[in-house]
Amino acid sequence: MNRTLITASRRLLLRSVVRQSSVSRHVITRSLTQTAVRPIFKGIFRSSSAQDTDNKRQVILDQDHLFHILSKSPIAEMRDRAAIINKYGTCPVCDNQEAPKQKPTYDCPECGYPTHCCEDHYHQGKEAHKEICSVLREINEDDHDLRSGRPMREFEFPSAQGFDETVNMANWDMFFYTRSFPSMDSDRSMRHVSKLLTYPISIAAVLHESSPYKYGDQITAEGMRSIAALRTILYPKNRLVNDAQAQVRTETINIYLLGARAEATLPSHIWLQLAYLFPSTPFHIHFIGPDALAPNQEPHMKSVNERLFFTFDNAMYHDYHEKIEKFDPYTDFFFLFSPGIGHHSAREGWKPSIQKALETKCAMFITGYDEADMMNDVTAVEQDYQGEFDWVLKPTVNEYRSLKRDVNLMDLRQTIFANYGIWGIRGKRYDVTHNPEENE
Ligand SMILES: [Zn+2]
Ligand SMILES: [Zn+2]
Repeated sequence: MNRTLITASRRLLLRSVVRQSSVSRHVITRSLTQTAVRPIFKGIFRSSSAQDTDNKRQVILDQDHLFHILSKSPIAEMRDRAAIINKYGTCPVCDNQEAPKQKPTYDCPECGYPTHCCEDHYHQGKEAHKEICSVLREINEDDHDLRSGRPMREFEFPSAQGFDETVNMANWDMFFYTRSFPSMDSDRSMRHVSKLLTYPISIAAVLHESSPYKYGDQITAEGMRSIAALRTILYPKNRLVNDAQAQVRTETINIYLLGARAEATLPSHIWLQLAYLFPSTPFHIHFIGPDALAPNQEPHMKSVNERLFFTFDNAMYHDYHEKIEKFDPYTDFFFLFSPGIGHHSAREGWKPSIQKALETKCAMFITGYDEADMMNDVTAVEQDYQGEFDWVLKPTVNEYRSLKRDVNLMDLRQTIFANYGIWGIRGKRYDVTHNPEENE
């Protein structure tokens, strides 16, 4: 199988296995665009909402014995995961043979996952399984830890930062340290928390004054113009010198999340961590796309506090776009989390939305879940919108990717890191003028 096919099948399989149970009818009848190719891995966000009840929960797992054979786990959710693999998974030894392919039901004693169809194939494939085995072992223990019932101190996040507080955004370590996250003292805690914060902090890292992405390295000259425009709003005190009037204005930053899925289900306090990094600025986050709402929900707006607003709308972006009166590169930008623009089943469907976003001349940032995923999207954009866009941020590894690996339950050989890579473009423009008076 060539790489493209592997990537393609991976995407579809990842999606189907996870969403099947709750929304199968919805998935089948809906357009593939903006939704079909984004992998959502089982249990990503359940853990975050579980934290609220942790204090009331009884401790059920011993920290020294977090490893369990999945199919025999004391946690029902983990046993379910084994059952999904039993049903939809791939035995890697069978996969390389012409003979009928059996489902993986033999549990590897080292990682606890059902990896092969039988003991015989387990021994035949043991050498090839070795590397991923240790990864799966770590995922096994992490996932049991999340559900262990211990107090999850690492999820006690800091609140608003002071106006004079200096945050270093170089990487996760510096961010946690300078933002005074109370209990981020193990790699496991970092993995748990980064998996949720990768969404807001990937955005913040691009905007922030101490961004890890530097002009001349990853940021282009055109990109610097876009980012500098946004920063005049995000850091109003910097404008004092040449624009006394602007200093007292608070313009809202609009972030349009196209094809929003998992990020639309994050608890509000996760998104507050973005707002806290820019204490002067109100944010309005627009979660747009067919999966931005649960099937029984209507489009709606919500205010988290006086500085953070959400809109949830399950329209396709190009339809939603028509409702917005005007776009301004100083206050508006787009963010697409692993959209799969280059995927054959989604590429055409994305076109009207990408086209609309490019017309605004506002910056657009895009993540991918591994190198191949990112470059697949980059190639498609280069082919489909040639001459219509400028580079803002050259494709690079995202400092704020999830540190936790997600595994494809349909094929345990495949793992990804959410938001592994990041890049940015914007519609070609020849001149930008900004008149703050027009924004009222
Ligand atoms: Zn087999
Ligand atoms: Zn194993």
